[in-house]
Amino acid sequence: MDEIIRFGPAGNSQIFYDDGYKHSIDAPKWCAEHGLYAYEYSFGRGFTMSLDTIKTLGENAKRNNVLISFHAPYYINLANPADDMAQKSFSYIIKGMEYLKSAGGLDYVVHLGTQGKLDRKDAIYLIDKRLDEVLQIIYDNNLDCCNLCPETMGKYMQVGSYKEIIDFCKKDDILVPTFDFGHINCTLQGGLKTSDDYKHILDYSIEKLGEKRVKNCHIHFSKIEYSDKGEIKHLNLDDNVYGPEFEPLAKILKEYNMTPTIISESKERMMEDAITLKKIFEKS
Ligand SMILES: [Zn+2]
Repeated sequence: MDEIIRFGPAGNSQIFYDDGYKHSIDAPKWCAEHGLYAYEYSFGRGFTMSLDTIKTLGENAKRNNVLISFHAPYYINLANPADDMAQKSFSYIIKGMEYLKSAGGLDYVVHLGTQGKLDRKDAIYLIDKRLDEVLQIIYDNNLDCCNLCPETMGKYMQVGSYKEIIDFCKKDDILVPTFDFGHINCTLQGGLKTSDDYKHILDYSIEKLGEKRVKNCHIHFSKIEYSDKGEIKHLNLDDNVYGPEFEPLAKILKEYNMTPTIISESKERMMEDAITLKKIFEKS
């Protein structure tokens, strides 16, 4: 895949249907018409699309030069102490990656797990061990043409501070971080403000993972409301209370010549806000 910066939405907002479209298989066309060359479809609540539909989505994406990514089910939990439950999580990871390969997509975004009643270090130990097994299955099934992209999380109980994610990603080149800067801002209690705040995270990541993987990372961007426990809910870009702002990040992306896929996860206006993110980037 050519290394260019891409913007796109996580799913369809109302404007897509208002424009006369009915089905997500046509989203790549809508996206390309609006200068967006990425599209993320979420299997967060389960695999709701048939393989045939996924192949059609992939063909439409290819025709429109749109790069597909999928979001894995939210119920994956590699920190579940029960091994049979972990096995189920493995199967959801593999199934999603098979789907992604069928769609000709690249990044498969996953929430690694939540610590529940475990100590943090025990949860991390379990995830670490299970990731080794998952990687083995990925390679055994020739799915290493896709990236598995562990996401930085917004609630403290979820494993996924940016340092934890970077640590896991050190295991293998196909583990590519998903920086959800809205989530990171939640766990930093609004600490993502200046370009230097973003730079700090990217520099840390480059030091640990090398330039290439960080340059081509996956990014989720939205403003998110938070409390002392972390994330509460996603907002649209017009929020001016919680942040984070995209401008300071856009500046660094340009300065570092980065070519990530940037997905807008705004609450209702993900398509419109993906366009806005792109405009902000172009102006910076
Ligand atoms: Zn996510």
